[in-house]
Amino acid sequence: MSWETDLVNRRRQLTGESFQTAADALRAEVSALPVAALANLRAFARVPVMRMPFGPDLELPPGLRAVLLPDATARSQIELEAGILDAATQAIHHLHRHPDGRLTRPVVVIRSVTPLRNRLQLHLNPVAVAPLLYELMPFGFDGEVSGICGLRARQQRRSTELFLIDVPTARVELPGVGRAAWCAAAAYREVRDRELGTGEYLASVAPDRLAAAEERVLAAYGRVFGPTRIASGFLRRIALLRQALWTQTWTTGCTDLNVEWPGDDPRHAHVALALADPLFGIPGAEIRTSTTLHFPAARSACKHDTLCGPDRLALRSSSLPTGDGTASFRKGARPEWEAWRQALAGRGHQH
Ligand SMILES: [Zn+2]
Repeated sequence: MSWETDLVNRRRQLTGESFQTAADALRAEVSALPVAALANLRAFARVPVMRMPFGPDLELPPGLRAVLLPDATARSQIELEAGILDAATQAIHHLHRHPDGRLTRPVVVIRSVTPLRNRLQLHLNPVAVAPLLYELMPFGFDGEVSGICGLRARQQRRSTELFLIDVPTARVELPGVGRAAWCAAAAYREVRDRELGTGEYLASVAPDRLAAAEERVLAAYGRVFGPTRIASGFLRRIALLRQALWTQTWTTGCTDLNVEWPGDDPRHAHVALALADPLFGIPGAEIRTSTTLHFPAARSACKHDTLCGPDRLALRSSSLPTGDGTASFRKGARPEWEAWRQALAGRGHQH
């Protein structure tokens, strides 16, 4: 295998891109490198990934990493992506309530990602669009806001762009989420919102500015809590877990991101190594044990400064489902999924 093919495959296992997409992205970037940087990259590419722990001598020059798998650098972009990772976890619970949902088959929200320097593209499982948008879009009730404060959407015929109304350069594209999917997601959301009986969808109330509740929450708490750089970095590599039955993530304090999936498939050691890959892993990651990555070089901007240790990512295991526990669950009415299905079918008749 040539060293270029090896690079493409190392990127693909993290992003879930097709071979061609990853190869094109890498070729465009690598061919623009100065000769000295290219020689540097070839040398790094030959270092076996199995070497543990990765010492500082294996730290790539930051410019080279951005060529191979760019990470978000702007604070608002990082926060937006950390918020999306959290929403993807919540969306899993919706998918387990889908009439065809099973605990015994893999459920993914994000199938693949295309990481770009100034934005991110997410290729979603079509069934996950409605739940993810439900969890992402800000909803105000009793002065609180669920979802990501300031998030708004621009609708195109075949894609949707999510952006922050107060920092419009922070954005995420959802290719393939066109008008039909958007309308079905709105039908899904309206059923859920009606069940709450109170509150308002802030993108309708304040389409071109922050709503008062959003301003208050942003001033008091900020947009997202936790080690946001690690969360953003993990989102950009989330396809690493696409074979898992499901994935849950949550933060503990301002330094710890927890990632959990049932059993040991994919293997924890494999996931840890890929996330600490000196070329494609999350920058600054260092393996100290088989299940915890340390990030001495990737501190998040929290307000406690010296009180807080370096960021960490812990890989955790939950128990495997015994049989298909959703059978009795599925018998209950799922009006939001029924509204979603009817909206999709209705659109189908119009075309
Ligand atoms: Zn802190």
